[in-house]
Amino acid sequence: MLEISNIEAAYGGVKALSGVSLLVKPGEFVSVVGPNGAGKTTLFKVIAGTVPNKAGQIRFGGRDLGRVPPHERPHLGIAHVPEGRQVFPNLTVEENLQMGAYTKAGRRDWKENFDYIVNLFPILKERRKQQAGTLSGGQQQMLAIGRGLASSPKLLMLDEPSMGLAPTVADSIFEAVVDIRAAKNVSVLLVEQRAVEALESCDRGYVIETGRVVLEGKQSELLSDDRVRQAYLGM
Ligand code: ATP
Repeated sequence: MLEISNIEAAYGGVKALSGVSLLVKPGEFVSVVGPNGAGKTTLFKVIAGTVPNKAGQIRFGGRDLGRVPPHERPHLGIAHVPEGRQVFPNLTVEENLQMGAYTKAGRRDWKENFDYIVNLFPILKERRKQQAGTLSGGQQQMLAIGRGLASSPKLLMLDEPSMGLAPTVADSIFEAVVDIRAAKNVSVLLVEQRAVEALESCDRGYVIETGRVVLEGKQSELLSDDRVRQAYLGM
């Protein structure tokens, strides 16, 4: 589904990604963990096309994304739920979801997707006429995920969905992502600083440090790896 080979990215002279390769298979849930500033957000921006890769290649569904401008990538089935949610604060909850449904597949599946989203996050149905800016952080995160789902993606990319949320709220978000993967048969690429939750939810994971993949493996391999346990799981 998503094949990233040896990509490099930089801001001016500052390298943010060096030779990163990563794979997401159809229906797979892949987590990327790593410390602050490791390059996780940059990786997502390169996949979304908002930061260019200076080298390497990204293929999605067999297609070279280097030839696909950023605004066309959602139409191929890539949904990017950005760090910090970035919902439209002055639009209502329902209007935010409609904004996500601008792809051809999203328009086609709107009714089904809307029903699924509000069933998964009932609070969004209750508040559907309310301005998104008045929602709590957790509710805004639910809305941001719902907006991504409304595009009927094949790949859902979630950038630090737990950021700034209380642990119980964050847990409910992780549970929702597991449900989404099962119910919507979508691949998930999750970037998180909360490594325990991210690794426990996924099939496979990558550890990124200073712009490089330093470790990759199946969920069970990473959770039992001494380096991961010491650096990320606090054991
Ligand atoms: P965080 O968890 O803090 O979001 P991250 O792993 O997502 O961290 P990135 O945001 O991708 O890391 O940043 C990778 C590197 O690139 C860091 O050294 C950061 O300071 C630098 N960087 C990120 N965005 C910019 C920018 N717009 N201009 C210059 N440098 C940047």
